[in-house]
Amino acid sequence: MAPLIEIKSVSKTYATGAFTVAALKDVSISLDRGEFVALVGPSGSGKSTLLHIMGFLDRPDSGEYYFAGHPTASLGEGRLAAIRSRMVGFIFQSFHLLKRTTAKDNVLLPMVYTGLGTDDRKALDCLSLVGLSDRVKHKSNELSGGQCQRVAIARSLVNDPLVVMADEPTGNLDAASRREVMQAIKSLNERGLTVIVVTHDDEVAAMTSRVVRMKDGGIVSDEKRAASAAPAAPAEAPLPPARLGFSPAEFAEQLKVAFKAIWSHKTRSALTVLGIFIGVGAIISLMTISEGFMTSLLSGASEDDAKKVWVTPRWEPGKPRRRFTMGEVEALRLKVPLAENVQPMLHRDLPITVGDRRIDSTINTHEGFELREQVPPGGYFQNRKVAGRFFTKAENLSRARVAVINHALAKKLFDTVEAVNSEIKIKGLSFTVVGVTEDHKAEQMFGGRPTAYIPLTTAAKRVFGETRLGAIEISAPTPEDTKEARRQIIEVLREERNLREDAQEDFEVRTFEAQIEMFKRTMGKISLVVYGIAGISLLVGGIGIMNIMLVSVTERTREIGLRKALGARNSDILSQFLIEAVVLCVLGGVLGVGLGYALAWAAYFFTNVQPALGAGTIGFAFGFSTLIGVGFGFWPAMRAAMLDPIEALRYE
Ligand code: ADP
Ligand code: MG
Repeated sequence: MAPLIEIKSVSKTYATGAFTVAALKDVSISLDRGEFVALVGPSGSGKSTLLHIMGFLDRPDSGEYYFAGHPTASLGEGRLAAIRSRMVGFIFQSFHLLKRTTAKDNVLLPMVYTGLGTDDRKALDCLSLVGLSDRVKHKSNELSGGQCQRVAIARSLVNDPLVVMADEPTGNLDAASRREVMQAIKSLNERGLTVIVVTHDDEVAAMTSRVVRMKDGGIVSDEKRAASAAPAAPAEAPLPPARLGFSPAEFAEQLKVAFKAIWSHKTRSALTVLGIFIGVGAIISLMTISEGFMTSLLSGASEDDAKKVWVTPRWEPGKPRRRFTMGEVEALRLKVPLAENVQPMLHRDLPITVGDRRIDSTINTHEGFELREQVPPGGYFQNRKVAGRFFTKAENLSRARVAVINHALAKKLFDTVEAVNSEIKIKGLSFTVVGVTEDHKAEQMFGGRPTAYIPLTTAAKRVFGETRLGAIEISAPTPEDTKEARRQIIEVLREERNLREDAQEDFEVRTFEAQIEMFKRTMGKISLVVYGIAGISLLVGGIGIMNIMLVSVTERTREIGLRKALGARNSDILSQFLIEAVVLCVLGGVLGVGLGYALAWAAYFFTNVQPALGAGTIGFAFGFSTLIGVGFGFWPAMRAAMLDPIEALRYE
């Protein structure tokens, strides 16, 4: 019958600076299943070192270790974690319970790392076995030392190990608690478990069936005192395979731990996510504003707008703009087949007065409509509702002093949009307001520019004293025709202006599509700046996250050691800290989305653009924060994952 534990010529040396300490020198020992063994000896004799090696928390420098009939030297990290999880229960002198965590949750912890899910009933059974049924909901800081150690005993049992190992379990306890704990440990052996207990308490040793004495890293005596309470049993057992993947129970535990860690350091967490918060906020506000801008531009644009082509003088630094003549307008009307409507436009910025009110306005011209195509009362002009009427072609020809004003101007002049039949003055000339239109959709973004429309000839001959046109607005039959219309317009105007083959045009012809393109390009430039600022903020935020995660790893070194001792793999620890970093970043990201949206709404009051928060934007924020969490959390998480369990447990 193979022994459960067989140690052959094992040595372990510690090198600390100038000193090397031979903690174990050529130790051999074998233990059968069912034994109750005390490892005794003076402090520093190598008891803990031997126990750690037997419990897979440490590896020997040389020698062999057979467990349940299998050599263990070549087992990988995943197998070792599985053995620690399923076959060995470890009890520490200083309990090592999770802080501010209930007795039950502490006992459930090893189950998290089996990959088989947690089982509350099993945990409660184990707690009742150590007499703590009435302390299940108590947190570790609400329990006495003896009770804490009994919770730790319950925890060591919860995965039905083959062997329980305890390193001075009574070392930190008073006499009464010591007896309680030893009684609990003794009862484990009586239930058939193999138990190894390190102690220098003779009273404890006296309870066991075999006492192994150590001194200076070697075994000096090995005395079987009595038959063990547990019957000897075959020790050969298959070693559990390395666990793959993550169970839902583990993921839930990791999320819980992450939120708990963040919640227990509220101020610190809040300061940490500030960079992410601002960075994501900046990006989201820009995205929602520009998306809203785009939406309102496109929804404000009608089929009418899409059919239009605008002709304007090209602006060149240092040169006067060459404006258009009515002759050129006539040429366009005659020679451009795709020009359905050619509208010459004069445009000036002039003050308009009513009484002592004087409002800086834009004055646009129009040739008016035929009576039969007259915009009916309550009808539309350029896709905008008109109260009253628009002026007629006849009024244009007779240079009538009639005007149509927009809401923005009406409100400024009359404090109301009910302004039909009012009188206004432009350059001292009085005009009758025959109609009031809504503000242009594109203008609404800027609060509506005060605008008046007057007949072209009135403007040219009576107001501006200028017949040269600032722009020509041409409508093609369909939006698809605008490209070809543009080509024809350029051809005709080049001819009219006698431009040479190789000369550049001194005018510009823009389609609606091109306008949108130009807008997008402008937005792109603004975006670049904002994204740059946001990027710096996110970088700083990310470094902040990394910094705090490093602090968190250091603070929780012992917890990491404990989790590993209870069967957590490197990947479990890695993912736990990654999840924590990601949760932090996503929290920052969510708050950032809120900030961005709030900023976009604040901007709404200035621009009149309703922000559009799309699923894509939110998805982007989440994805981006997750990426930052993973990116900047990886190194700290890796440092945590690579910690050696025993060194981590010893960390002060
Ligand atoms: P015991 O548990 O019997 O008191 P240990 O097994 O803890 O003894 O230690 C055996 C020897 O190894 C001691 O001299 C101790 O100083 C040394 N030792 C243990 N752990 C380390 C370590 N991590 N680094 C350096 N020396 C160590
Ligand atoms: Mg020790």
